[in-house]
Amino acid sequence: MSWPPIREELAGIEPYGAPQLDVPVQLNVNENPYQPSAETVADIAASVGAAARNLNRYPDREFVALREGLAAYLRSDVPKAEITPEQVWAANGSNEVMLQLLQAFGGPGRTAISFAPTYSMYPEYARDTNTEWVVGHRETDFAIDLEKARALVEETRPHVVLLPSPNNPTGTALPPETVTALCEAVGEAGIVVVDEAYGEFRRSGVPSALELLDRHRNLVVTRTMSKAFAGAGLRLGYLAADPAICDAIRVVRLPYHLSAVTQAAASAALRHAPELLGYVAELREERDALVDWLRAEGLEVADSDANFVLFGRYADRHAVWRGLLDRGVLIRETGPEGWLRVSVGTPQEMDAFKHALTDVNGARA
Ligand code: PMP
Repeated sequence: MSWPPIREELAGIEPYGAPQLDVPVQLNVNENPYQPSAETVADIAASVGAAARNLNRYPDREFVALREGLAAYLRSDVPKAEITPEQVWAANGSNEVMLQLLQAFGGPGRTAISFAPTYSMYPEYARDTNTEWVVGHRETDFAIDLEKARALVEETRPHVVLLPSPNNPTGTALPPETVTALCEAVGEAGIVVVDEAYGEFRRSGVPSALELLDRHRNLVVTRTMSKAFAGAGLRLGYLAADPAICDAIRVVRLPYHLSAVTQAAASAALRHAPELLGYVAELREERDALVDWLRAEGLEVADSDANFVLFGRYADRHAVWRGLLDRGVLIRETGPEGWLRVSVGTPQEMDAFKHALTDVNGARA
């Protein structure tokens, strides 16, 4: 018997996580490169200070003020969706939101599905909640073929479908017809989770799945403050869904899972939403320019609706990744064999990346 006596299926498994290296240009975890202004920092600090005066008490378990702030933000982002606070739930990052969804809607004897290549945490939520995990496949352009997706739903009768839009690591957004078709195929027996962690970066003309909420009560749309909101350090993810789905999550959430400090900081950040989201347009332009540059270099590049770009293909992608790191640029070795993923940074960071890539002599695959 090995020590410690961990569950057998977890023995020897490396914990998930990209390397956290201290290098000048960090383009590996799809963060927003822009820091909050001094004014926003001061407001967040003052709000946290006020919350600290009551730290002897447990926080608001229902985080009412924060839910109101999140619902107001979603109404401003997607006015058609008319989201109310009762439809909103939040946790410490959208990772925790999705784990809670699997705790409530997955579990032993239940099945969750997605379509690879996709976000590598999904199978971990399934494993940790003892949910059977089945993965279908995307096409060569990383789109989901509707007929094949329907067939997989017929075959597996899933309780949870995880559909990132835009997808990580490919950047592919889902057309609303795919979301609708899968909500209908899954029916009342399960939920369809559209993970819009990168939703705000979608190209114009690509609608959010939030617009479909009033048509499908089995639809859940998750979002996060980590990316567009430039709040990865906040750890605040959330969802919008039928209030009955929020009630179901209440059964599995730990009491007071959102600390008073988190609630105060996130509510303060929401008050500064226009500033924090102010770089989204710039990042989208920078992303499109990066796609064009990589293509002009003769590389294969996946269309991206996110704040990162998947490019390749390299016979030895690790050598390219290493060569960039040696030049002070950290990107991510992820996705299908031969591909690499780079997050969109500031114009200066993008220049550093381009110079380093040209220098590595890997620009021509
Ligand atoms: N979904 C996707 C597709 C992601 O890429 C990430 C983070 N990399 C998350 C969810 C989780 O983000 P967070 O927990 O910071 O909200």
